[in-house]
Amino acid sequence: MARSGGCLCGKVRYEANADPLMTGVCHCKNCQKQAGTAFSTLAAFQKADLAFSGELSLYEDSDTDTGNTVKRFFCGTCGSPLYSEISAQPEMAYLKTGTLDDTDDFVAMFHCWSSAKQGWVELNPDVPAFEQNPPG
Ligand SMILES: [Zn+2]
Ligand SMILES: [Zn+2]
Repeated sequence: MARSGGCLCGKVRYEANADPLMTGVCHCKNCQKQAGTAFSTLAAFQKADLAFSGELSLYEDSDTDTGNTVKRFFCGTCGSPLYSEISAQPEMAYLKTGTLDDTDDFVAMFHCWSSAKQGWVELNPDVPAFEQNPPG
């Protein structure tokens, strides 16, 4: 199923020509800071399945709990975070699903970094939650 999305101002647009390989919610402090919210909602795609138009800005986030640098791509005009890339998986893009035009079919397969989650956030006990990164 083709999906489309983009940043708040519309300068960056994308199309995804595959279903996500994985979906999750990340509660780590860095995601909270970058998004300015309580967590990131993510969908993993092969980069080859994503087509971007417009210019992305990049913040290389090296101050992470795992020590891995996370490349955080965003719109330099309006600031919307679009996707993250982990150095160990350069072929993957972790799309920020709030930027999808249609978010109706997003369902989180798991939560990660629940150890850092904000106190008011209640997790569904039927969805696996990992204190740090998911295993594997
Ligand atoms: Zn924008
Ligand atoms: Zn995170």
